Amino acid sequence: MPLKAEIISIGSELVSGQNLDTNSRWLSLALGGLGIETRFHTTIGDDMDDHVAAFKLAAGRADLVLTTGGLGPTQDDLTREALARCVGVGLREDAESLAAIAALFARRNRPMSERNRVQAQLPDGAEALPNPIGTAPGVWMTIGSAVFAAMPGVPYEMHRMFEEQVVPRLRLRHWIERVIVHRKIALFGKGESDIEAEALDLTARGHIPEVGITASDATISFRIRGEGLTPEAAWAQTQETAEEIRKRFGPLVLGEGSTDVAESLIGELKRTGATLATAESCTGGLIAHKITAIPGVSAYYNGGVVSYANSAKTALLDVPADLIAAHGAVSPEVAAAMAEGARRRFGVDVAVSTTGIAGPDGGTPEKPVGLVYLGLATHDGVETRRLEIGPEQPRDVVQSRSTKQALNWVRTTLKTWPDKPESR
Ligand code: AMP
Ligand code: MG
Repeated sequence: MPLKAEIISIGSELVSGQNLDTNSRWLSLALGGLGIETRFHTTIGDDMDDHVAAFKLAAGRADLVLTTGGLGPTQDDLTREALARCVGVGLREDAESLAAIAALFARRNRPMSERNRVQAQLPDGAEALPNPIGTAPGVWMTIGSAVFAAMPGVPYEMHRMFEEQVVPRLRLRHWIERVIVHRKIALFGKGESDIEAEALDLTARGHIPEVGITASDATISFRIRGEGLTPEAAWAQTQETAEEIRKRFGPLVLGEGSTDVAESLIGELKRTGATLATAESCTGGLIAHKITAIPGVSAYYNGGVVSYANSAKTALLDVPADLIAAHGAVSPEVAAAMAEGARRRFGVDVAVSTTGIAGPDGGTPEKPVGLVYLGLATHDGVETRRLEIGPEQPRDVVQSRSTKQALNWVRTTLKTWPDKPESR
């Protein structure tokens, strides 16, 4: 059975039409946002019998009753007394509330009148709801099977009490069950600060849903936090932002969840039905290892060659010896020839190659440690890319970064290819 709430607005100025009851509207909207349905709005004037009758009626038909108004220090403020009458108890003075009221007057440099003492009174067994910005504490108590929260009529005092005092108590009762989901969209191909600069509107404080950025091994992840009453609603809250990230960063997006570059590449191979081979020098088979680490890839990955020596480049990939002699093994020409050779030898749609100086030795001023050429051969021909990973980087970093770049290049190339034909 869904929870039923009733809101009771108290004040002769409201029933007489002099003032508009805005509290009920505010509270209904706030409760609705928390998944609690308001079934009744009741408005009463400053009359004791009407208070007691309305409270008893509400206690019989609602699970949660929120009242506003009637907590002031004057004769016409009857809420505390009426609550006590409903359960047949007396009022007691709450020491903490009295101290808070006295402190408020002291802060304002005004003497506290004896009348304000009554605002520290609570029905026996009730709990005070502190009011840090006004004299009237609220009241939290049970009448029959209904929970009552009596709050001040002054709107801003009521808003704050509702949020700081009432909502946490509703959570403790599990009357508010919000579901939180976290989504992670991984990107590769640009630095964290560049990506962040293009997403400042999304990562801004107060953005709903909340978006954060984390970087790990050159993969940048957007984390989106969604909140809702159901998993579906929490997910729905993240949807627009997730779509915006995909739209804005296009080919940089690897995918959602734990997706890394290799995983995302395999997804593209499956989608396009393309076949792949590798020709590796400085990465020593790391690309092949990353690809074969993913199950079910045999239909798309034909194989690879680790052609470390120049003679192996010639023998296994048909790279002409005089091409290597003319440009050196670490050159765009050799990277291109390796990729073309692998594409031809393995009879695949795409071949990717690496040749570079992994270090720590072997660097020269023209060809420093960390210089790596990639080659990519497809039916459109062959292209090369130059990477400068940095002479200060250790060998394993040069190898892992160039591997990731090579995998990503294949991935972004396949992204532009159509889906594989359904039946052939
Ligand atoms: P009370 O606590 O009943 O003395 O209310 C203090 C003041 O809060 C009133 O004079 C109104 O200006 C305002 N107020 C009380 N109830 C409401 C309400 N339901 N909606 C808007 N303002 C209210
Ligand atoms: Mg009043």
